[in-house]
Amino acid sequence: MERFVADQLEEGPGTALRIYKEIWQQGATSVAEMGTVRRELRERLDEVSTIATLELARRLDSTDGSIKFLWRLRDGAIVESVLIPDGQRVTLCMSSQVGCAMACTFCLTGDLGLKRHLDPAEIASQPLQVQRLLPSDMRITNLVLMGMGEPLHNLRNLIPALRICLDDHALNYSHRRITVSTVGLVPQLAELAMALPVNLAVSLNASTDAQRAAMMPVNRRYPIAALLDGCRRLPLPSGKRIAFEYVMFAGINDSLDDAQRLLELLEDVPAKVNLIPYNENPDRPVLRRPSDEVVKGFQHFLINRGMGCTVRTTRGLDISAACGQLGKAEAAAMQAVPGPAR
Ligand code: SAH
Repeated sequence: MERFVADQLEEGPGTALRIYKEIWQQGATSVAEMGTVRRELRERLDEVSTIATLELARRLDSTDGSIKFLWRLRDGAIVESVLIPDGQRVTLCMSSQVGCAMACTFCLTGDLGLKRHLDPAEIASQPLQVQRLLPSDMRITNLVLMGMGEPLHNLRNLIPALRICLDDHALNYSHRRITVSTVGLVPQLAELAMALPVNLAVSLNASTDAQRAAMMPVNRRYPIAALLDGCRRLPLPSGKRIAFEYVMFAGINDSLDDAQRLLELLEDVPAKVNLIPYNENPDRPVLRRPSDEVVKGFQHFLINRGMGCTVRTTRGLDISAACGQLGKAEAAAMQAVPGPAR
């Protein structure tokens, strides 16, 4: 921003900061709206720039109050964000890539393959744009990078995007209210933890390497021991714990033996567990969701042995907005809407 303003407008960092704040703090969508920038400068800025915003392609409202926003990017690609209101807490689940390269067998986003990385503005614009569409008494309180894509596979763009989310001249979220979830790319996890103090979540999803490798190709590169070793070494602030996501599949990883192995794996790791009952997809008929009793039994087994453990409530099933369902609508929308002429 500073370089652009210097090169194009021959103005200093003060002007750059004013323009940056107009965009990320005030949410200006055109140069004309930039009241703190003097008119002559606005005219010149208008000639040399456009403010790229996400174009809302579609909005889907769930009966449970969650809302899925599909965004059309400038190359015609579609990504989405899911808003999950829950009492005082209003969480926005954001995407980091178009599609995903990780190919976890149970996740529909993986079917798309990786189309491309989102750039920093495309990531940080999601909370900015969604907030604009909400009633004035409803504020997004939490951001989670748990939408389409593997955020740590796009670390180069993720870090500047998170800086915009954290910056008090921009979106001004607290690092306590931002969570980045990963399949477990070990070096990038360390890099992120060193760069920014955001919350970390790791999709473990299994209690043995055999189980994990069958579902998550990434396990061949970073088997469970290597992943957890990396986690033990992260420079975490004291008291901060990593949330281990564990998608539960009936008859595969939902026994109390699994729970016991999970406890042993997480020994000495600053950990808590977030159980996610698998959201079924018709084209994965062998994968089933365990009963609520089984999920509760697993949770209590962990809690009774001193491990913090929550169960993620399923939201947005009716609009394909639940965990692992992002991508179907995109694929359809991308086919229906031709991209811009090349
Ligand atoms: N790529 C990152 C960010 C996505 S987070 C990651 O994998 O962590 C999405 C979460 O939903 C992950 O924990 C993933 O394991 C889980 N998930 C994927 N498909 C699911 C499904 N069908 N049902 C329930 N959870 C699912």
